[in-house]
Amino acid sequence: MHVGELPLAERYTDHFAAAGIEELYPPQAAAVEGGVCDGQNLVCAIPTASGKTLVAQLALLSADGPGLYVCPLRALAREKYEEFAELPGVSAGIATGDYDSAAAELADHDVVVATSEKVDSAIRNRAGWIENLACVVVDEVHLLGSPGRGPTLEVTLATLRRRTDDPQVVALSATVDNPAAIAGWLDAELVESEWRPIELRTGVYADGLVTFDDGERRRLPSDETSEPADDTVATADLVDAAVADGGQALAFVRSRREAEELAERLAEERFAETAGIGMEAAAVAEELRQTGTTEQGRRLAEAAAWGVAFHHAGLRSDHRSTVETAFRDRELAVICATPTLAAGVNVPARRVVVRDQRRYTGSGTEWLPTLEVHQMAGRAGRPGLDPYGEAVLVGSPDSREELWERYVDADPEAVESQLRDRAALRTHVLAVVAAGFADSQAEILELLGETFYAHRTPNPDLGGVVGDVIAELIEAEFLAPVDEPGVELSATALGRQVSRQYVTPETGRRIVDGLRQIADRPADSVTPLTVLEVVCDTPDMDDTYLGNSERASLYQFARRHADELTTGMDEPDAFESWLESVKTARILLAWTEGASAEELVAEYRIGPGDLESRVERAEWLLGAAAALADVEGVSVPEITRLRGQL
Ligand code: ADP
Repeated sequence: MHVGELPLAERYTDHFAAAGIEELYPPQAAAVEGGVCDGQNLVCAIPTASGKTLVAQLALLSADGPGLYVCPLRALAREKYEEFAELPGVSAGIATGDYDSAAAELADHDVVVATSEKVDSAIRNRAGWIENLACVVVDEVHLLGSPGRGPTLEVTLATLRRRTDDPQVVALSATVDNPAAIAGWLDAELVESEWRPIELRTGVYADGLVTFDDGERRRLPSDETSEPADDTVATADLVDAAVADGGQALAFVRSRREAEELAERLAEERFAETAGIGMEAAAVAEELRQTGTTEQGRRLAEAAAWGVAFHHAGLRSDHRSTVETAFRDRELAVICATPTLAAGVNVPARRVVVRDQRRYTGSGTEWLPTLEVHQMAGRAGRPGLDPYGEAVLVGSPDSREELWERYVDADPEAVESQLRDRAALRTHVLAVVAAGFADSQAEILELLGETFYAHRTPNPDLGGVVGDVIAELIEAEFLAPVDEPGVELSATALGRQVSRQYVTPETGRRIVDGLRQIADRPADSVTPLTVLEVVCDTPDMDDTYLGNSERASLYQFARRHADELTTGMDEPDAFESWLESVKTARILLAWTEGASAEELVAEYRIGPGDLESRVERAEWLLGAAAALADVEGVSVPEITRLRGQL
């Protein structure tokens, strides 16, 4: 099907043609046949790079009213927003928490791109723009199965469908085992395809030999001279061959440290010279040097000068995006990354090498899910630039069979709802009551009856657990029983504020307890550290790793400041995790007192990106603390002061 045949205004079809999109890819044509331009709900489960963005654009451009594009990550939302903003005559808005359009303005846009948390928050705050949506596109809908994000995504979608006038829903998914289940839930047509614009070959390396799924076997050059290569040497050889052949490579490893070490090892290969990008790589290195002076930034710049970068969540976000853009522009030859890169923005490469297929858990290691490895492999092959894409899993004679079975032959996992998780239910039960969408257990159950969980579970029977959760929320003073005909429950002023501030009930409770303690203390024992300890000791603040060598000094610190803390040294059930919170509070305190990122990163051994995210979370949690202090009628000037200093 040619773009000219689409039922769209010519300015759009001209725009697509100018972007090189003339013939629709087969899954796109199937989406059109499935009714994506006619308001039909659709689930599109197709591989990376098979053109999901156009499917989304077709739905949003042909919808009879404003549209919403829901993304899991901010960086992805930004990427999509830029694509939508380029469409002629389309006014696009964005709501992600950092680059937001003004809330009042969102209603005026044709398309709003938002993270799922922002949409959830807008629904809870009964934002007007939500109610008029004609079309909702959900990207990466397979995240319904993710323990962290899944419950929010399904409750958000269920509420959106209920609150708005039956909008068209288009859900885009990676290839998963049960897309029909998602389609069934959304009353949607299903487009399922393995088609890719560029051939992908997957292989397993072991003992000097790569065996591909099309039967080809290839020996690595280094193996002719030496003993069978270890994982890192094999990875270097695989990367080397791809670059020598004119391509780029992504190498996935299990940890941040491994990503940095591998990049430094690969920098010795001087890929910038092999790839003929010496000047470009030097310019990227210079850019990185100018924007960051931490030890990590220096090492990143040094490796980048040789055409190699590392990429993980501990990097500053501007460094991450510099690396992504430079790689897309072929100014870098290789990225060594943790698996997070595979779930993020679009960075295709000719060859993907998955060196590590196991990751650390608290107590050992476990195999990565098939879906995750497929997403890494799916990054292989740049349409128009590479003749093919290749993904190679690095193994050994012992693991060869297992890797083959798990990742080459196996289908990805099915998407299963995580809604039964108690903490998730607590959050969502409070949210629906606080927003006024339900005022009895029966109504809560009716709403939850429209979730993916209820659709997937023959006899969902959430009554017992929802009853328990309601009792917990009453105990926490966030809900209160009401004795009126037809009404059982209402949210208290505290409960409404907790939900509006978008913190979990556990965090809300911890902050309220902290505020009450603060109110009872002599004013001179309340310091910025007191407030920071409260907000850092909540589940909504990320944990900060505490090394063995730091423990003693942190313990001393907590002891010295015991009078300022709201938790006694003998009180915490989980002492270790409380001590980690004190570490976070100490870092943030130093930050507000003017310490530089360089000093903090060096002294506390956290990544610059981790510091960035802790500061951002502290801003959010202090905002919540200020709002809850208002409800409690407690005045804590330190909160205001800290907010000004972060
Ligand atoms: P996905 O979201 O499925 O990973 P994208 O929508 O980002 O993939 O598309 C990948 C690339 O393919 C983009 O650069 C896009 O412009 C291009 N593309 C999409 N559809 C077509 C088409 N029909 N013809 C040519 N290029 C296309």
